[in-house]
Amino acid sequence: MYDTIIIGAGPAGMTAALYAARSNLKVALIEGGLPGGQMNNTSDIENYPGYANISGPELAEKMFEPLENLGVEHLYGFVKNIENHGDVKKVITDNEEFGTRTVIVATGSKHRLLGVPGEEELNSRGVSYCAVCDGAFFRDQDLLVVGGGDSAVEEAIFLTQFAKTVTIVHRRDELRAQKVLQDRAFANDKINFIWDSVVKEIKGENRVESVVIENVKTNQVTEHAFGGVFIYVGLDPVSDFTKDLQIQDESGWIVTDDHMKTSVAGVFAVGDVRQKDLRQVTTAVGDGAIAGQEAYKYITEHS
Ligand SMILES: Cc1cc2nc3c(=O)[nH]c(=O)nc-3n(C[C@H](O)[C@H](O)[C@H](O)COP(=O)(O)OP(=O)(O)OC[C@H]3O[C@@H](n4cnc5c(N)ncnc54)[C@H](O)[C@@H]3O)c2cc1C
Repeated sequence: MYDTIIIGAGPAGMTAALYAARSNLKVALIEGGLPGGQMNNTSDIENYPGYANISGPELAEKMFEPLENLGVEHLYGFVKNIENHGDVKKVITDNEEFGTRTVIVATGSKHRLLGVPGEEELNSRGVSYCAVCDGAFFRDQDLLVVGGGDSAVEEAIFLTQFAKTVTIVHRRDELRAQKVLQDRAFANDKINFIWDSVVKEIKGENRVESVVIENVKTNQVTEHAFGGVFIYVGLDPVSDFTKDLQIQDESGWIVTDDHMKTSVAGVFAVGDVRQKDLRQVTTAVGDGAIAGQEAYKYITEHS
């Protein structure tokens, strides 16, 4: 029986574990992959206070390191369901069940698919969602990055260290990314832009060879040769396993108050999986700190 089980070891979950363990709670952190979450797929983090620039995996390691000494149990497994039995919650993974008094959901979000022909067939054969993981395989190639937000622009800049050229295709005529990233992209000779346009199809026999693009203003359709396509078109929550608790909005984001409390007493949600405006490492750790503290308060009030 745990005081709190935290599901997901991204920055939100790791910070919740830090705060809960420092309050002397018996804490388990269940993670289905590598601790670090999306930070493991991030080349450079330049907006985490205290570091002018740090790689995502390095920051992940620094956040994970202290947890063991604080007695946080790191368990491997994918959580399939959470059952609410009042004062006790049951957390069910693919092969185990755990009892706990509180649960903190920190499972983040996953990249959204473009949903065009060729995307699934050529996934990992030129289609990628992770420049950090796959960028080095595309040396001296012409690459396409789809999207106009922070992740798209940041990873396009990262890809220029390997690629011959990087073209950003965006459905609007201006980027959504932070100004500092935009300025850097516009100043980079290797980066080109295709505005007001969407990808209609990704083509290739065994690997990506070309991409069909439609201009949404003129409806003109053109085909361009590219060796790789990196897709950054938004996020969807990883929250399916919480369905029985009915704590999600219509798009699947978990609804909380300012204390990270969901509508189920003793169940909290933090980080990207939460309904919120800004999904970043800083906001994830802020959420985690609050939930770790709130779990302690809940347990004190309910004992
Ligand atoms: C390419 C890219 C670049 C980015 N650049 C920046 C940046 O420069 N600065 C910045 O601040 N933010 C950046 N972000 C955003 C930042 O990474 C996220 O906001 C942050 O990681 C969210 O943290 P989280 O803990 O909520 O979720 P995540 O980091 O997504 O972690 C969730 C964890 O939960 C685990 N999990 C999911 N489901 C289950 C389950 N059922 N059972 C067990 N475990 C589960 C996952 O394996 C994962 O490890 C970037 C994101 C991407 C993709």
